[in-house]
Amino acid sequence: MKRIHYTKPSVGELELDYVTDAVRNGWGECCYDYIHRLQKDFAGYLGVDHAVATSSCTGALHLGLRALGIGPGDEVILADINWIASAAPILYVGATPVVVDILADCWCLDPDAVRAAITPRTRAILAVHLYGNLAALEALQAIADAHGLALIEDAAEALGSIYKGHMAGSLSTFSVFSFHGTKVMTTGEGGMLATDDAELARRVEQLNNHGRAAGDMRQFWPSELGHKYKMSNLQAALGCAQLERIEELVQRKREIFARYQHQLTAALPGVYMNPEPEGCRNSYWMPTLVLPSNSPVAMPAVLERMRQAGIDARIFFQPLSDTPVFAGLDNRKTPVAHDLATRSFNLPSYHDLSVEDQQYVIATVVAAVRAEGENA
Ligand SMILES: *Cc1c(COP(=O)(O)O)cnc(C)c1O
Repeated sequence: MKRIHYTKPSVGELELDYVTDAVRNGWGECCYDYIHRLQKDFAGYLGVDHAVATSSCTGALHLGLRALGIGPGDEVILADINWIASAAPILYVGATPVVVDILADCWCLDPDAVRAAITPRTRAILAVHLYGNLAALEALQAIADAHGLALIEDAAEALGSIYKGHMAGSLSTFSVFSFHGTKVMTTGEGGMLATDDAELARRVEQLNNHGRAAGDMRQFWPSELGHKYKMSNLQAALGCAQLERIEELVQRKREIFARYQHQLTAALPGVYMNPEPEGCRNSYWMPTLVLPSNSPVAMPAVLERMRQAGIDARIFFQPLSDTPVFAGLDNRKTPVAHDLATRSFNLPSYHDLSVEDQQYVIATVVAAVRAEGENA
């Protein structure tokens, strides 16, 4: 049986050309050429001054938190619904993650919950733009300003989303992105940190170079303990090609989403999908279907029917506070996060998904939800 994957990259001739060139020629004095070009082009795309390429988004976030001097005794507020990659770096630097609830419509941080969680130890708000949806950046920035906090965007899932005329990832102290093979654009593995703050960018680059200061003429001389989360020139070549195609990649995501939304919300009363608020563009990294709150349909049974039909559907992220890594956190204060996690799932959305295959996915979802509704 054919299997429909939930995501995989779109790679064509341009990618082959650039990577081949990097393999053939990207050594010696050219060994950073694609890295520098990707950083410059990426900063240009976002409309920010600085971008630093990394080996992952996780690494970029780790560097950024260290560059801000966040460490033991400090608290960072984030949403309870998240992939571990957004939260783990907070633990790496010895700070304390504080999880709060999400808004039911956008699945991102609830600003009121953020405000209520602020203590004298709070240093930063980490806004993750979940599944391409945009966090309430204006409200979060106002809270950050009022309390002297950094606002960090984890825009790993929102490359190409636009918030009131500004690219996601351009409206915070710094932002981070992922180029993992499942994301809107890929370098295989890879990430980026973006910021308008020249000094922060310099700190991040130094930390990413084992703590060696730029311009220090002494060889093998770290001036502090750093890290090494570098992207290779080969990966950057792939990234340059993908970034040239970014608007095409985003448009494809949007077409796929529109087809799902149009047909699924018509066929299944009460379901809803990723929102696109007035004045914003959602790049719809991951089309996500939310079953009605009063629905008797058991989501695991729907996903099992899809699996049997050869379709990858994924459950929503799980509340961090339920996982063993965050066992110390109180998991009773995030009812919206817990509720959505039981009735939401992602649908296949890779760029090359054919209309025929997408119609098969739609028909299977509709049949599965109806059948489980009758079973209930
Ligand atoms: C994918 C993802 C990450 C992790 O990215 P890596 O490049 O795998 O480290 C971090 N945050 C979010 C929101 C993600 O979706």
